[in-house]
Parts: sequence; structure tokens; C-alpha cells
Amino acid sequence: MDSADRVLQPHNYPGRLFIVEGIDGSGKSTQIRLLQTWLESQGYDVYFTEWNSADLIKATTKRAKKKGALTPTTFSLLHTTDFAHRLVTNILPPLKAGMIVLADRYVFTAYARDVVRGCSREWVRKSYSFAPRPDIAFYFRVPTDIALKRITLARPKLKAFEAGMDLNLHADPFESFKVFQGGILAEYDRMVAPHGFVVLDATKSITEQQRIVRQVAQAKLEDYDREAAIA
Ligand code: ADP
Repeated sequence: MDSADRVLQPHNYPGRLFIVEGIDGSGKSTQIRLLQTWLESQGYDVYFTEWNSADLIKATTKRAKKKGALTPTTFSLLHTTDFAHRLVTNILPPLKAGMIVLADRYVFTAYARDVVRGCSREWVRKSYSFAPRPDIAFYFRVPTDIALKRITLARPKLKAFEAGMDLNLHADPFESFKVFQGGILAEYDRMVAPHGFVVLDATKSITEQQRIVRQVAQAKLEDYDREAAIA
């Protein structure tokens, strides 16, 4: 298989890879955590991982972001490096060991964000082409104003990067959030068909959405061989 097609082809590992995507405040973390609890309660071996969590790169990106020292390309490349590191150290071992890997955000986060920041769509997709295709990619679709309301209910201040403040879209962080996250939403929408996203109406209640999430996950687990997992 051409490595450039990897993210478009089913993987051959004994485990399963379920991922969630959506703009900030869409409720994806809430849903994947609930899914994790449910799967574990049924005795599945679950491994949870988040986007951007490798300590190796974290310190560098944090410092560089503060100084505004990154171009869209260098920003993107740092995150690709971060992801490649996490893929090898976190995601692939449990997937090869037959576990159910749950990822809070995946390469599609980079596809969306880096394009909004000015990188070419083709270029970003190519740089992440080594990533295995998820068995399920849930996309929590929500309008920006609802996402913004949820975030500000939980905490009064927006993070500069989630509002895209470095892009000088708007002086007001709330307006900037809407423009920036609106761009991300449009990018996600383009990925639905080519990447087979399972789209959820994320304006619905947590319970209603979780019911669907569990149904979709259960259907995907019908041909899953639990005995293949080590544990
Ligand atoms: P994300 O991971 O997409 O940024 P979170 O799961 O952290 O979103 O949720 C953001 C906030 O919205 C949290 O305070 C959460 O409790 C709340 N929330 C999540 N889902 C819903 C929902 N369906 N309806 C109302 N509030 C929600």
C-alpha cells in the first residue's frame, strides 16, 4: 500500500481505534469519556489518548506560541512531530496489543486547524499520511455560538489559541473565536465524506448523543476478537 493512502485504508491491527473530532466546546471530550466508562464497565481493555500530549514537544510549542515565533508551516510540522511520537509510543502499542484505543482528537484536528492557519490542504494531508485510519471517527457538529456559550459557562476566559487570537481576525476574543472556529467547522465539513465521519448533532443532549455513540461503537465491535487483547 502506498503510505500516502494509509489514512484512507482500514488498518490491520487486532485492536480498534475510535476517535472524536469537533470544535472546542462541541462536547467531544464528554462523549469519549462516557464511552470509555461504558466500554470498561463491559470488561473491554481501553486505552485513552489525547491530541498534543507528548511532553517532548509540549514545552517547545508552548514557548514558541508565547513568543509568536512560529509560521503556519513550522507550527504544523511541530505538531506532526508530536503526533508521530505519540503514534509510535502511545497509540500503536495498545492497537497492536488488541486494545480499544480512544483518541480525543486525531489528525483531522491538524487538517482543519493548519489549513485555517494558512497551510495548504494537500500539504497537511500528505504530512500526516502515515497515520492509521480510525475504525470510527465521530464528528460532533455544533454551531460556534453554542460551543462558545458552553465554554464560557465552564470558564469565563477564552484561551488565546482556541480563539485564534494570533491570526488577528478580530480584536474581541469572542468574535475571533467565532471566525476561527467557524473556519475549522467548514474544514471538518469537507472531511465528512472522504473520511467517513459519523456525524452527530452536538446540539442535542449529552444523553441522546451518548446513546448513538454507544450504538455505533457496539456495531463496530461485533467482529472484534476480545481474546486477541493481551491484558
Ligand atoms: P470539547 O472537548 O469538545 O471542547 P467538552 O466535552 O469539554 O467539549 O464540553 C465543553 C463544555 O460543554 C463542558 O462544560 C461540558 O459539560 C458541556 N457540554 C458537553 N456536551 C454538552 C451538551 N450536549 N449540552 C450541553 N452542554 C454540554
